[in-house]
Amino acid sequence: MLVCMGIQQGIPNMQNVPLLLESSFQPSESADYRELVQPATGEPYACVPMATLAELDRAVEAARQAQLLWRDIAIPERARLMMRYAALLKEQLGALTELVALETGKVEADARGDVWRGIEVVEHAASVTQLMMGETVENVARGIDTYSIIQPMGVFLGITPFNFPAMIPLWMFPLAIACGNGFVLKPSEQVPQTAVRLAELFLAAGCPQGLLQVVHGGAAQVDHLLQHTQIVGVSFVGSVPVGQHVYRTASAQLKRVQCMAGAKNHMVVMPDAAPAQAINALVGAACGAAGQRCMAISVVVLVGAASNWLESIRAAMTALRPGLWNDPQADLGPLISAQAKSRILALIQHGKEEGARCLLDGSNAEVAGHAGGHWLGPTLFADVRPEMRLYQEEIFGPVLLCMQVQSLDEAIELINANPFGNGCSIFTSSGASARHFQNRIQVGQVGINVPVPVPLPFFSFTGWRKSFYGDLHAYGKQAVRFYTETKTVTARWFEDDAQVVGPNTSILLK
Ligand code: NAD
Repeated sequence: MLVCMGIQQGIPNMQNVPLLLESSFQPSESADYRELVQPATGEPYACVPMATLAELDRAVEAARQAQLLWRDIAIPERARLMMRYAALLKEQLGALTELVALETGKVEADARGDVWRGIEVVEHAASVTQLMMGETVENVARGIDTYSIIQPMGVFLGITPFNFPAMIPLWMFPLAIACGNGFVLKPSEQVPQTAVRLAELFLAAGCPQGLLQVVHGGAAQVDHLLQHTQIVGVSFVGSVPVGQHVYRTASAQLKRVQCMAGAKNHMVVMPDAAPAQAINALVGAACGAAGQRCMAISVVVLVGAASNWLESIRAAMTALRPGLWNDPQADLGPLISAQAKSRILALIQHGKEEGARCLLDGSNAEVAGHAGGHWLGPTLFADVRPEMRLYQEEIFGPVLLCMQVQSLDEAIELINANPFGNGCSIFTSSGASARHFQNRIQVGQVGINVPVPVPLPFFSFTGWRKSFYGDLHAYGKQAVRFYTETKTVTARWFEDDAQVVGPNTSILLK
C-alpha cells in the first residue's frame, strides 16, 4: 500500500496516509495530522492528515477537468472499467479483508463481508449500459418522436462512516463514475487506509487520472466541500446529527443530497417462531461486528409467551467471545475507538440508573494479551421502557435491549413510534403475521425470518424518519437516477415533414 514515510508535516517515523490528489497519491501539506490507533490493541500505527482547504479545491478541480473528458467516453468502455475493477477487487479480497480488519478490528468473516458486499456493487455498476437506458415514444405527433436520455451531472462528493470502510465507499464512487461523473471521496478519518487502497486498485484497473480524488479530514473539510460550487451532489452515510447537518448545508446550497443516517433496529419475536433459529439470528445480529452495523438489531421485542426465551437469549449472548480478527474462535471484534467505548459505558451506567435490568454486562470484557483494545462484551438489558435514554439513542455497540409486549400490533406501534426507521425484522412461522407486519411497519428495510435485511445492490436502500434525508435513490438500480439528469428530447427528423404552425399552436397537436 502507498504510504509516505516520515514526511515533515506528519508524525515522524509513522506511516502517513496519502491523499489521492490530482493524478497521484501524495502527502498532504497540512500541519494537522491525527493518529490512527488499532482498535484491537490500542497501538498507534499510522496518521492521517486533515487536508488543507487549498488541497480540497485542487481535488474538486482535478475531478472536474477529468469529468469533462470522461462524460464522452463510450458507455461500454465505462462498463468495462467496472468489470476490470471488480475482478481486481476479487483478486485482492484477502489483502483487503486484512486491511479492513486492521482498521476496524472486525473479525475475518465480518471484514470479508464488508469487502464482498462492496464488490457486488461494482459488479452492478458494470451493468450501467442497461441502467442508463432511456425511453422512447415514436410519433407523438406526425413525424415527431420523443425520447429521454440520461446524462452525467459533474462532480459528486461522498462522505463515508467508519463502520464499513470498503462497502460504503464502493456504494458510491463506482456507480457515480460509471454514470459518467467525477468523484471526490472523503472517507472516515478513523479508517482512511482502506479507501486509499480501493482507489489504488481503481487506478490499476484503468480509471483515468483525476476522475477519483480521495481527501482526508473531518468536519472542517466536509463543510468546505459542501459549499463548493463545483460539487453538484452529495452522498453521505453516517450518524443522525451529522447527516442532518450535511443535508441542511448541502440542500441550502441547492445541491442534490442523499443522507443515510443512524438506526435503532428492532426484531419482533412471535411465540410461534422457531426458538433456536430466532435466538441464534438475534444474537448474531445484535453482537456481530460488535453491534457497529447500521442494520444491527439493538432491540428485541418479545411478544406474549416468547418472553420466556429471555434466559436462552442471555445464555446465547454469554457464549459469544470477543477476540482478534484472525482468531477463529472470536465472534466479535472491539469497538472502533476509546471514545466510542467511554460513550457506551456511560450509556450502560445510565441505563442501570434509569431502572433497566442489566442481565449481562460486558463492560469489563478483556482479551488476553490485548488489554489496550477497545473491548466491550455482549450486554443485555431487560425491562427497558421507551422513554429511557438507552432506548431513544443509537448505542452502536453489542448492547441488546429487551422489551415485552402482548400482541403483534403493540409491537408494531412501539416500533413505529421510535425516532429511527432504518431496519427491522420479524421471526414467526405465521405468513399472516409476517404479511401484517410487512404492511404496517414504517421502516425502510424489513426482514421476515431474516435478521439483517440489507438488500443486494439491485434494490434500493432506504430509511424512514431520522434514518434518511433527501433523495431516496440511494443505492443500486435507483442510484443511477441520483447520479444523473434526465433530458427529454422531442425531434422531427426529416425537414420535409415540417409543417407551418401558428404562434399559438402546439406542434404536438398536429
Ligand atoms: P459520523 O456521522 O460520525 O461520521 C460520518 C462522516 O461524517 C465521516 O466521514 C466524518 O468525518 C464526517 N463528520 C463527522 N462529524 C462531522 C461534522 N460535524 N460535520 C461534517 N462532517 C462530519 O458517523 P460514524 O461514527 O463514522 O459512523 C457510524 C454512524 O453511521 C452510525 O450512526 C450508523 O448508524 C451510521 N450508518 C448508517 C448507515 C445507513 O445506511 N443508514 C450505514 C452505515 C453507518
